[in-house]
Amino acid sequence: MRKRINLRGISDLLLTLLVIFGTISLAWIGLTGTKSVPVSAEPAEDLSNIPSDALVILIDAGHGGFDGGAVGSKTGVVEADLNLEVSKKLENELTSRGCYVIMTRSDADAIGETKNKDMQARKALMQLERVDIVISIHMNKFKDSTVSGPMVFYMKGSDRGRLLAESVIFSICEKTGRPQRAANPEDLFVLRVPKAPSILVECGFLSNSEDESLLVTTDYQQKLVKGIADGIADFLANEKNGDTE
Ligand SMILES: [Zn+2]
Repeated sequence: MRKRINLRGISDLLLTLLVIFGTISLAWIGLTGTKSVPVSAEPAEDLSNIPSDALVILIDAGHGGFDGGAVGSKTGVVEADLNLEVSKKLENELTSRGCYVIMTRSDADAIGETKNKDMQARKALMQLERVDIVISIHMNKFKDSTVSGPMVFYMKGSDRGRLLAESVIFSICEKTGRPQRAANPEDLFVLRVPKAPSILVECGFLSNSEDESLLVTTDYQQKLVKGIADGIADFLANEKNGDTE
């Protein structure tokens, strides 16, 4: 049972701008994906290895290879690398809690030789029958460098997605000590294609120097992944209890 958390410290207008900016960024990324570069083989998941009663979580480390994503304004850190660091820590955390984890990528490479092939390969994994929850990990960027903090997006219209997103953003903000923020509805590829509830976690803003300084540290990454894992656990516990609000 949890009080609905209302947005604090950021206006609805700003959020709308963020969403527009994110959409433009994604469109731009789509244009960069035409180069052909060496990539790792498309991961083959052996579903027969998954215990029948396991909770299966797909972790999608955003970007990779030719698509680095956002770049830190202070240290020059590349989003794709940070996404992988956080995703691997989340894999460890969820595995230690008894989940079966599938990763879209476990190294620096993309999983397709073009942006389109990469997206199709991720889609195939996200739509695997056994997948119960999809978590995409990204780092945010915004023209106003004062904007900071984590955000969580879910597919608009998805009730389970919304409940998962609300649970996770609450838990992340609690664990990291950041101001609480509402979950945000969106219509993005990684939210739309999975059959299972799916969220996109924007861990923080690489355009904000305080966020960037935190995001590159193991300590803060660990707080983020514990927040995500606790949020997933709360979501599942609420569903089990039939608590849908
Ligand atoms: Zn990204």
